[in-house]
Amino acid sequence: MAQAAAVYCRISDDREGSRAGVGRQQDDCEALAKRKRWKIGGLYVDNDVSAWSGKVRPQYRRMLDDIKVGLIDGVVIWHQDRLVRHPKELEEFFEICDAAGVREMATVTGDIDLGTDDGRFHARILGAVARKESDDKSRRIRRKMEELAKQGRGKGGGKRPFGFNEDRVTIKETEAKLIKAAAIRVLAGESIKGVCREWTALRVPTVSGVPWNPTVVKRMLVAPRTAGLREHGGVVVADAEWPGILSRDQHQRLNLLLCDPRRRKNTTGGARRYLLTGYIYCALCNAKLIARPKQDGRRCYCCATGPGFKGCGKIRSLSEPIEELVAESIFVAMDFGRVDRAMKRQDGSVSKERLLLDAIRVEEEALDQLARDFYAERLLSRSEFLAAKGALEVKIDGGRTQLSEVESGRVFMDFPRSENELRSAWENRGLDWRRAVVDAVLEGVTLHSAVKGRNFFDPERVELTFKA
Ligand SMILES: [Zn+2]
Repeated sequence: MAQAAAVYCRISDDREGSRAGVGRQQDDCEALAKRKRWKIGGLYVDNDVSAWSGKVRPQYRRMLDDIKVGLIDGVVIWHQDRLVRHPKELEEFFEICDAAGVREMATVTGDIDLGTDDGRFHARILGAVARKESDDKSRRIRRKMEELAKQGRGKGGGKRPFGFNEDRVTIKETEAKLIKAAAIRVLAGESIKGVCREWTALRVPTVSGVPWNPTVVKRMLVAPRTAGLREHGGVVVADAEWPGILSRDQHQRLNLLLCDPRRRKNTTGGARRYLLTGYIYCALCNAKLIARPKQDGRRCYCCATGPGFKGCGKIRSLSEPIEELVAESIFVAMDFGRVDRAMKRQDGSVSKERLLLDAIRVEEEALDQLARDFYAERLLSRSEFLAAKGALEVKIDGGRTQLSEVESGRVFMDFPRSENELRSAWENRGLDWRRAVVDAVLEGVTLHSAVKGRNFFDPERVELTFKA
């Protein structure tokens, strides 16, 4: 029975995810030690993502040193392949344990008795099997993939990516044009779903022959490949050997827009059917009106009262005439000179946006580094780690808030230049875009109560406040 067992965990380069994460390894090992009534004498965690690069594992070495000087009398690991990577290392491990009199090694998958020939034989077999599996096959392939990735070369295999020819390197112009237009429109507030509907209506063929769906369109728009970047294991590792269809800048902004969990609502364009929810208020009580259809299904805005609502319950009106009136007012009141100026201002805010994006990225990287320092290197205490993590998260949140303010003017980046163009865009673009326009030009809409006895829609009830 070990009085001071070492728990050793290793995060490895594991693209298939067939090995447990380090948290799980540690939990399982600690549970096992408890079951065996072993006392834990030390925890050693290595971040070994580049196992085959031949880097030393500092925590593993520290554990061997502790065994040598007698601080450790047993070893708990998740599986033997976490402990050693080569038969040579296993032999060294045997020698050190033997010299120090350490005989006990437990793994979650079964105990190994280091003190007997049988036990060692068993361990060697396990090591040989693991080595055969990883070295012969996956490691070689992985290394090859990694090399190719670092040179920016493609993976090959499977169907060609949309936007590229069969060689996967030259751009297919007809498709690239569609991708570029889609990126601009999505960045200007239109939904992925809208793009999808349009491509389906235009009978744009997919590579696979399966009809377009929002997930596929989104994945393509945010893929590093589309921006001429080579990704490996979820990380951009190099400039690709093929040119980008979208710019780096668009790539970053699309990722931020479509992949930020707090903005999931934007991703595939939910079931929103109301132009003005969030912008329209009750004139009597100032509450936001909510969307609530009548029994017959006709859409209505109403001031809701009752549990969970703050309104007075005194105002209700069909949505359609209000929305038509608001749209008409926007068409007539739109100052296209101002749109021009806003477009120019957008150039400025693009650089501001980039600064914010860069700052957010730096902070996110710092957060990653912090996690590595804590989990793998053990350079920080738990409370230091949590304090630093909290501070970084506050900064990242602040950056995101500023960014979304800059982005609200983004609709002007691709905006109609005349009233007629605006009218037809209003017809043809999705509700998300129309809402983005409302957001950009209106402070709000106030709905007054109806004059008794009037059974037609009274435009006087709708009060618009334009943004200055
Ligand atoms: Zn009200």
